[in-house]
Amino acid sequence: GSREVDREVHSVCPYCGVGCQISYQIKDEKIAFVQGRNGYSNENRLCVKGRFGFDYVSNPQRLMKPLIRKPDMPKGVNVDPSNPYTHFREATWEEALDVAASGLSRIADEHGGQAIAGFGSAKCSNEEAYLFQKLIRTRFQSNNIDHCTRLCHASSVAALIEGIGSGAVTATFNEVEHADVIVIIGANPTENHPVAATFFKQAARRGAKLIVIDPRGQALRNYATHMLRFKSGSDVSLLNGIMHAIVEEGLYDVQYVQAHTENFERLKEKLAAYSPESVAPICGIDAETIREVARVFGNADRAMIFWGMGISQHVHGTDNSRCLISLALMCGQVGRPGTGLHPLRGQNNVQGASDAGLIPMFYPDYADVEAEPVYTKFEELWQTPLSKKAGLTVVEIINAANAGTIKAMYIQGENPAMSDPDLDHARAGIAKLEHLVVQDIFLTETAMMADVVLPASAWPEKTGTVTNTNRQVQMGRKALNLPGDTREDLWIIIELAKRLGLPWSYTHPSQVFEEMKRAMPSLDNITWERVDNESSVIYPCPEPDHPGEAVVFGDGFPTKSGRAYLVPADVLPPAEVPDQEYPFVLMTGRQLEHWHTGAMTRRADVLDSLEPGPTASLHPNTLARYDIAPGDLMRVTTRRGSIELTARADMAVQEGTVFIPFAYVEAAANILTNPQLDPYGKIPEFKYCAVRIGPA
Ligand code: SF4
Repeated sequence: GSREVDREVHSVCPYCGVGCQISYQIKDEKIAFVQGRNGYSNENRLCVKGRFGFDYVSNPQRLMKPLIRKPDMPKGVNVDPSNPYTHFREATWEEALDVAASGLSRIADEHGGQAIAGFGSAKCSNEEAYLFQKLIRTRFQSNNIDHCTRLCHASSVAALIEGIGSGAVTATFNEVEHADVIVIIGANPTENHPVAATFFKQAARRGAKLIVIDPRGQALRNYATHMLRFKSGSDVSLLNGIMHAIVEEGLYDVQYVQAHTENFERLKEKLAAYSPESVAPICGIDAETIREVARVFGNADRAMIFWGMGISQHVHGTDNSRCLISLALMCGQVGRPGTGLHPLRGQNNVQGASDAGLIPMFYPDYADVEAEPVYTKFEELWQTPLSKKAGLTVVEIINAANAGTIKAMYIQGENPAMSDPDLDHARAGIAKLEHLVVQDIFLTETAMMADVVLPASAWPEKTGTVTNTNRQVQMGRKALNLPGDTREDLWIIIELAKRLGLPWSYTHPSQVFEEMKRAMPSLDNITWERVDNESSVIYPCPEPDHPGEAVVFGDGFPTKSGRAYLVPADVLPPAEVPDQEYPFVLMTGRQLEHWHTGAMTRRADVLDSLEPGPTASLHPNTLARYDIAPGDLMRVTTRRGSIELTARADMAVQEGTVFIPFAYVEAAANILTNPQLDPYGKIPEFKYCAVRIGPA
């Protein structure tokens, strides 16, 4: 067929944190196809989601009109998304916004602003994230505002801020070009950051040593010089074992440690108890391999460490990250080209939404809400009194909804009725809310329980900036007209704010960006016009014509002392270990074809036909032991719930473990997961709980 199009629009992929630059090719006001552009993070490449993941925008299930719940309709996730009219009636924008605002105001008047909470989204723009948190904080004097960072890298960010004074990556992933050793732990980039994975493969082909550490096998092992398939949950033991060997063999960087770190002596004392020989049986990796990896890393000239949810989603997630920070710093592997710490961010804008302040304990740019003079600065900027108390986090908000202390919520583009742990409990909490306003593009499982549903814009239907895992602030541009009676997200937030009595007069995202610059020193020398002209600028940016710093902290850290603080970690066991009744370990995660709770990708034809239904992956020996054939329906059960799904044989999964993607509502993995939280990052343990398996 003809590839002639009417026009092209430059933007950014809305899926993962790699932030590939794309070009929508528009024909007859539809996206005919998508091409990669020569962006810094993708160099013309795209993965299957970026190439084929856009037809969700015209899926017949798109919400086209505001909806209001019919009186006395019970709240559950049982509404047919193609026919919401069993539970809802259509409304005008005028009525829907009035009902949404008056419900929130009534609850705040009766119970105080602390009874209100908001979930923003890591899929929204920086400007939307900023206004969303500003609305909750300034109208309700409540810091109960969070988003899905809490479920992904909150523990990594907690450890990074504590250790080096900044939660963002110290180097872009492009720096692997200069590295001679690359460690990838608890991440599967080929599936979850596919274009970043191509940079890792290139570096390995060039001769860099690639150390992959993960309980599951993965495609990068074909490029790895070392593949350590350790026992799930034994991260701290393994990393302490590696550091023990580095100390014992004198491979750490004495000068760097003295010049740039604190607390090394205490770390050393702690590591004494973790010889490779003593941790080997705990990790399932022999001592000689641990020593070999320690030597490779300790002798590296330039080394980088990358990690993902396999590190962060544990009750010891913060400890896991502390170990990675210590490992890099004791060897002086931060602050030079080809070195660095890089938590691979999941969502396209989880970095930007966090920077913009969708976090209960921080204002924009990680300014502590409980610290003076921080709140005075924001009270002046926003011209209103603010709460001086950190708000509740995602799982705490759902617990408070169950307890009846959170009574109303405003949720934009987030789907806690699928993404939270222990879903039966989470859904019960959401159903108990007296007033729920949901702004989204589909009738998600969360929207099914709303009192008011506000039909929003898909990513190609609006303009705004997003910030990827590399700290690149990039421009997403409007390519399509809004369908039906939908509205741009920014407009919806502003109109709701006005009805809540806030004196807002923004008419364009560039005005919001301008205000953000006043609140966020990280945006110094980055203007809306620059991002629009250059498509991408990295923060921090030292000069108005500088592309931004790919590597930071060459001359110290943004901590009080200017030094990094090394925090030793002890072993904290997983919150729920296998026993006779529940003898297996469950890990949840994503797969290449589907994005998170599936709201978009399961409505994209190519992606849906590649992976049409829920599967549980197990080692063939495990399946054989239970007399389950690949393709059979099987049952997986925990203390919290039970689901049925198709068995898949997968040699990459260790015996004794089960892997289930969480994108499928008909067998929602999070019915099973444990809501127990990491005490620092408040992240739930999605990567470890005890399960029982059997035929359906
Ligand atoms: Fe989109 Fe990520 Fe794929 Fe790039 S790698 S095309 S940003 S999903």
